[in-house]
Amino acid sequence: MYRKIFLIIVIMLFFKATTDSQQFTAQRVVPQEWIKLWLICGPIPLPPPKDPSMLYDHLDGFKIDYLKKAGGENNLHVKAGDVLKFKNGSARWQIYNSPDSIIDLEKAFSETDNALAYAYAEIQADQAGVWFISIGTDDGGSLWVNGLNVWDSFLPRSVTVDNDIIPILLNKGNNTILLKSEQREWRWGFCVRFLPFYKDKLLEKCSFFTITTGLDGIPMITSKFGTPVLQNLVQNLDIRIVDQQQKVVFNEQRKTDFCGIISLISDEFQTYHASFSITLKNGEFMQQRFNFYAGKRADYTLFSEGKSDYRIALSKNASESEKWAASELQHWMKEISGIEIPIGDIEKEYLGPQIIVGYNDLVRQKTGADAPADLDESFRYFNKGADIFIYGGKMRGTMYGVMSFLENEFGCRWYTSAVTIIPHKDSFVFDWFDHSETPGVRVRNELYFEALDPIWFTRNKMNGGMGFRQQPGGVECYWGVHTFYQLMPPSEFFADHPEYYGLIKGKRISDYTQLCLSNPDVLKIITERIRKIMRENPEYLIYDISQNDWDDPCQCENCQAIVKKEGGESGIVIWFVNQVAEAIEKEFPDKFIGTLAYRYTRTPPKYIKPRSNVVVRLCSVECCFAHDFKTCPENQSFLRDLEAWSAIAPHLYIWDYVVNFIHYIMPFPNFKVLQSNIQTFRENKIIGIMEQGNQEKGGEFSELRAHLISKLLWNPDCNVEIVIDDFMYGYYGRAGKYIRQYFDLLHGRITPETHIYIFRDPSPYDQIFSDQFIRDSYEIFEEAKKVADNSEILKRVELASLPVLYMKCLRSPLLAKYDGSYASFCAITEREGAIYGGLGEPQRNSFHRFMENAK
Ligand SMILES: [Zn+2]
Ligand SMILES: [Zn+2]
Repeated sequence: MYRKIFLIIVIMLFFKATTDSQQFTAQRVVPQEWIKLWLICGPIPLPPPKDPSMLYDHLDGFKIDYLKKAGGENNLHVKAGDVLKFKNGSARWQIYNSPDSIIDLEKAFSETDNALAYAYAEIQADQAGVWFISIGTDDGGSLWVNGLNVWDSFLPRSVTVDNDIIPILLNKGNNTILLKSEQREWRWGFCVRFLPFYKDKLLEKCSFFTITTGLDGIPMITSKFGTPVLQNLVQNLDIRIVDQQQKVVFNEQRKTDFCGIISLISDEFQTYHASFSITLKNGEFMQQRFNFYAGKRADYTLFSEGKSDYRIALSKNASESEKWAASELQHWMKEISGIEIPIGDIEKEYLGPQIIVGYNDLVRQKTGADAPADLDESFRYFNKGADIFIYGGKMRGTMYGVMSFLENEFGCRWYTSAVTIIPHKDSFVFDWFDHSETPGVRVRNELYFEALDPIWFTRNKMNGGMGFRQQPGGVECYWGVHTFYQLMPPSEFFADHPEYYGLIKGKRISDYTQLCLSNPDVLKIITERIRKIMRENPEYLIYDISQNDWDDPCQCENCQAIVKKEGGESGIVIWFVNQVAEAIEKEFPDKFIGTLAYRYTRTPPKYIKPRSNVVVRLCSVECCFAHDFKTCPENQSFLRDLEAWSAIAPHLYIWDYVVNFIHYIMPFPNFKVLQSNIQTFRENKIIGIMEQGNQEKGGEFSELRAHLISKLLWNPDCNVEIVIDDFMYGYYGRAGKYIRQYFDLLHGRITPETHIYIFRDPSPYDQIFSDQFIRDSYEIFEEAKKVADNSEILKRVELASLPVLYMKCLRSPLLAKYDGSYASFCAITEREGAIYGGLGEPQRNSFHRFMENAK
């Protein structure tokens, strides 16, 4: 036993002797290599903290310079063996050559709490230059490089490699590092190395300079590296600051004192844009650009305790939609606050604060901005002092600005035409608004039950139309689809001119074929007829000349010659509509002729290109909607066609499908592709998107679909998860948690192998919707119904449960009849007038026959 202890002591003495006998030398700076040879001195005990939770400063006594007698912390001269005396003790500087990247001070000294130690190293550099010194420490500490204090940190932590990286300038030849390491409790140590300097890393990881604004509104340039480090590194700093009107409000070059107060010309609270051009002493040049806020903030009360000093101000020149928007603002503000804010004429003097709707002279004075184009749909709302401005293009921009102001600032939601959520507030105080948006897709349309309501459509910033209708701000509408026979009915022409119609199997027929497009009379008649329609119905943007909704194009020699030359049937269609478009162009310079790229015409022609006044409407009808266009192998040919059309068509328009077309009421888990597909369309420079859903009530998640698609068409980059959650909880209340659970369960059924198409049938053998899935979903809806906040919300939950009941009936009809699921399905569809699918009444009847016959 004693012999063992003796042996250990001998070994310890031996190791001590070997470390002391080493030379302390300068180490060459090598990127990534650990600094392992140190002179260390400690521990110097510090008093334990009076309050252990006081973590936000160094321990008492840490900041004392214990090295004064050796030149001080910023000018140290020591060698191994020197003794450092401090109150109540002393320590000797000793060489420590660490076997490891981490200098373990517990091992070097002994286990100690509340103490500090010094570690000193010398570094040899071949030439002067900027480096990063990288440190990890346990706990905090302070670091000097060549006598400059470049880093200080007091928070307790564990050693992490490259925890802090600090830009420093090394001299040619010898350089010194002094680390003052702080120990609180438990482990104690540090690691140090050098990393090559990259300006990108400095900007990305360290954000070098920043501007911070204090409570007084005065901005200051700051940097976490401190003046000595900056002066050592930076040759020159050019600062340029512009305000919101792009006016230069600060422009200065600094060579020494980089940080400090910036005196801007005005003290108005707003966003400013700063641009810093930094030249380092090693010649490198960097630029930092960022926005910051500065100026005096004040609180303004829009309304409080049943009173408001505001009025809504409109110019005499306001458009119809701007007037409508002002009345919307008045109406919903009253719902929110209980106060009717008057609408007044901006030309009439008003002493109180105002909400100014629309672009006018006041906006020009305040912003310097020119009037937006009438059709510009982008908008901005902001305040100058107590006044709030909302403006955009006259047609729809201002109106969308008002709706977004209500939506963003007050939480108003127009989920469906029947369900609007308006929060009630006793008071509303603001200090600053500045928000602007621009639409992501020019023409936005969806064929959904909810979207049939023009007011819902407007409030949700939708502006497209299949057919014309009146709505605030107007619509960019499309006349017709599948119009060959509408323009040239066989009943009118076939008897006398069978040659106008398709040659199929050697015979001119009229049933289920197309027009003979190479016939010059057909071109003449169609041109005349579309011109007449355009004259009589000038409200449309695009006039359709397109194939009937079936295949079998004309096989005559003349038609097929063009088809052959162009490598496909789209060739003759474009050849034909280009001629019509050319013929009407002079009379209708702002209008378009539209046609389809659909089924047998989906692939673009080889040579001919659509004219500038032709719109090609590309249809995604064949695609898989479980996976997006880009990732699903089934969609690659569509993606190729999309990209090829995008390359040749000046105006590409999309007819996309977002519903199970036969069984509207079947689960259709395509929500994960909506955003990605719309983004793919946008990348291909489309001018419009029409999302085909169900126009009758009752399609699966049809209210959510209509809502989400309107958000995505306006902003293809919106956060879909937030929109869905907002809807789930806003529309379904407490039951929303369960509906979301079902939604996730449903989308979890999709795997890379499960493709879904718009004509999927609810077969009992379908592997996506297993019996277990139906059982689990059924249970979730039972729970959802229990927590429904009221009878109205219960109805919404029941409507959402129809797809599960429908699947249950078709998969297990006997069980569905036995446990009441079928009866519930009948009662809910009856009450809601819910549609089953695209085939209408006959489909409903055949479903019920199937259920009745099930034995
Ligand atoms: Zn033909
Ligand atoms: Zn797929």
